[in-house]
Amino acid sequence: MAETATVRPLRSSEVDSWDFEADVVVVGYGIAGVCAAIEAAGAGADVLVLERTGGWGGAAALSGGFIYLGGGTALQRALGFEDTPENMEKFLTAALGPGVDKNKIHDYCQGSVEHFDWLVSQGVPFKEEFWGEPGYEPPADQGLMFSGGENAAPFNTIADPVPRGHLAWTKDKKLGEKGGGYMLMEPLAHTAEKLGVRREFDVRLQRLVVDDAGRVVGVAAKRYGKELFVRAERGVVLATGSFAYQHEMVERFAPKIAGRPAATVEEHDGIGIRVAQALGADLAHMDATEVALVADPQVVVRGILVNGRGQRFVTEDTYPGRLGQAVLQDQDNQAYLIIDETALEEAFETKSSMSFLRIAPTWVAETVAELESEMGLPADTLKSTIDLYNKHAENGEDPFLHKKPEWVKPIGTPLGAYDLCGYTGGFTLGGLRTDLDSRVLHVSGEPIPGLFAAGRVTSGICAGGYASGCSLGDGSFYGRRAGIAAAKSN
Ligand SMILES: Cc1cc2nc3c(=O)[nH]c(=O)nc-3n(C[C@H](O)[C@H](O)[C@H](O)COP(=O)(O)OP(=O)(O)OC[C@H]3O[C@@H](n4cnc5c(N)ncnc54)[C@H](O)[C@@H]3O)c2cc1C
Repeated sequence: MAETATVRPLRSSEVDSWDFEADVVVVGYGIAGVCAAIEAAGAGADVLVLERTGGWGGAAALSGGFIYLGGGTALQRALGFEDTPENMEKFLTAALGPGVDKNKIHDYCQGSVEHFDWLVSQGVPFKEEFWGEPGYEPPADQGLMFSGGENAAPFNTIADPVPRGHLAWTKDKKLGEKGGGYMLMEPLAHTAEKLGVRREFDVRLQRLVVDDAGRVVGVAAKRYGKELFVRAERGVVLATGSFAYQHEMVERFAPKIAGRPAATVEEHDGIGIRVAQALGADLAHMDATEVALVADPQVVVRGILVNGRGQRFVTEDTYPGRLGQAVLQDQDNQAYLIIDETALEEAFETKSSMSFLRIAPTWVAETVAELESEMGLPADTLKSTIDLYNKHAENGEDPFLHKKPEWVKPIGTPLGAYDLCGYTGGFTLGGLRTDLDSRVLHVSGEPIPGLFAAGRVTSGICAGGYASGCSLGDGSFYGRRAGIAAAKSN
């Protein structure tokens, strides 16, 4: 990698003078950074946040704002849903794998109710309203939703299906502008300010600074091209986000997502991972990615998704991010949605946060044979899929992929197909290997003294699969741990 030389750690003996000093230096002012800053300040540390852009927010403030919480949060209970940490753990272990960090999942589930209460105590509001329809997000300001396929096969037989996608309440919500993510970040940034957290904007991390014993004691950064040195008495928290925009790293670790970054920001250039790697930090699940399928779930659920051979491969009523992963990872990014006219009309009458995607199908036809031919599929491929699907759909059953009966209806005519090939995008989930106190682990397995990390610069609770809210969820949860541990470190 071209920049390798520049990410090597600097010796503190080479630093002539420090431009800033603090007990805890947090790098990155998104969700993980703000939570680290609040907890470190609450533990009595003098905290300085360094942020590359001109303000707090990061991807978190632009995000939809789902935060994955459960185990019986006050919001779940208020809306009549019974959950336990054990039930949540069963679901997450199955849905976020294979290869999840079982200790982290257990820890996260056990601490989830307290984490929800903490967010509320920091001023994050949640509206007591449930949205039960298929979708990426609720169409309005509802506060709770299924956000990981909990109520779809196979997970509805593994754990009791309970919604855990919690959304900060936003008046006049605007997707990508002022959504749930903004309402999560805003009160937290406000709390940090009230606690006396200092921040310096337009400051871009370049390298870590270590003492002769190998302890991280600061960072070297740049502001408007000028080098700055920042001393951290107790610890440095890396919260700089993922590597979704570092093309070479994506090509090397997660090539299927190359060229298709989505739900991320350009500042996620992997720098936090690289500076820690240069100190011997271990990595985990660098191939894991969140993947969205760009289609309206209210339409998808009423049709069937087929691959380039005209065959179904995933239950259409599951979490749309799971559909995206199935398409990109297992079907070579090939997918077509087949839907009949009646179902399409019904879908177009529903509410959805993705209704802007409601366009006419790519192909329409009077018969399946005609559609198949227009799509360029070999004769009878789609026909045999639809015949088989319809045979069982007459009885409201889907014995192959177990779509729930409420969504299973025979596909009639006229019908159409949407070409969804390549309609996927997402962000990387892998990163630094950390322990439950967010200490960055060396390849030897020991913590690197003075170095902490949280958010998408780390590998959090997701190892392969994803549920909406896991990123803001583990970012905030382990951000807090990083702040507490760094404040105590000496
Ligand atoms: C449109 C959209 C929708 C999304 N919806 C959801 C959702 O509903 N639920 C969910 O869980 N996730 C969602 N995500 C993903 C989620 O926002 C991110 O994964 C999450 O914010 C990661 O947290 P983080 O703290 O690691 O990074 P961020 O929140 O992005 O914070 C990282 C910060 O570090 C700064 N930084 C980077 N490099 C440097 C440097 N060299 N020096 C100093 N500062 C630096 C960045 O500028 C940024 O402010 C969404 C994202 C987007 C864009």
